[in-house]
Amino acid sequence: MQLLGLHHITAIAADPRRNLDFYTRVLGLRFVKKSVNQDDPGTYHLYYGDRTGSPGTVLTFFPWAGIKRGRPGTGQAYATAFSVPAGALGFWQERLALLKVETAASEARFADQVLTCFDPDGLRIELIATAEADPRAPAPSAEVPGSHAIRGFHSATLALADAAATADLLTNVMGHRRAVQSGHRTRFAVAAGGPGTYVDLLTDPALPRGLNGAGTVHHIAFRTPDDPAHQAAQAQLSALGVGVTPVIDRAYFKSIYYREPRGVLFEIATDQPGFAIDEPVETLGTRLSLPPRLEPLRAEIEAALPPLS
Ligand code: ZN
Repeated sequence: MQLLGLHHITAIAADPRRNLDFYTRVLGLRFVKKSVNQDDPGTYHLYYGDRTGSPGTVLTFFPWAGIKRGRPGTGQAYATAFSVPAGALGFWQERLALLKVETAASEARFADQVLTCFDPDGLRIELIATAEADPRAPAPSAEVPGSHAIRGFHSATLALADAAATADLLTNVMGHRRAVQSGHRTRFAVAAGGPGTYVDLLTDPALPRGLNGAGTVHHIAFRTPDDPAHQAAQAQLSALGVGVTPVIDRAYFKSIYYREPRGVLFEIATDQPGFAIDEPVETLGTRLSLPPRLEPLRAEIEAALPPLS
């Protein structure tokens, strides 16, 4: 299977305005797409990433007003880690304290330092100042200079009661390799390796069983380069008896979905065509983008969505 690393990660939030403020102002990501949940068009789908929403940078949310908080734990994508330049953690520590963002004590993980914070719904976000090469340019914002800005994903951590079957799927089917292991954490890499290609499996017996809700991840998506590789991945999973969906056109990429053996929802998404397919890069995220089949319902959909500012 030809996978290139993480494509996007989608999580659940309660209040869309609070979510937008945290990811754009506090973390300095760009609001690259304002759209709706294609399976539930009364709900926003908000996308944050680098300037163009490159694959491997985009964290997205379904904000469901009034949804109860979930419980982070096993059977979930437990943490989303972003890569920041070496030496940037001091800046972030100060900034997050100033903005009264909840954080955990910074910790060492393999060769790197990790700063953990929690978004307004309690979603676990990690900033990793990695000593490894990360050729992706940091994406500066009004309040976060390029020298400290987020470059894109570093890794996703799945919390699992037992990691054996998931490790088998990653290595035997999904083209990953075991990279490094320490304590309860095993890191897997794919393709060229490095930040943006890592999936960590965490088997910490202290973690409870996870419950879905606000502040938890809905699914994680892996990159594949093009339609032929995508179709091949779908056929391979199908032949293995994994309950995989047919290819679904999500306008900005094509998708297939399946659950890994411990229940975490996986997606494989194509790199193309990307977020500039329905609005110019300069004005990404400024108007409500709808897939063509929902365009006839624009007036109704816009009237039902809560204002974002
Ligand atoms: Zn997705």
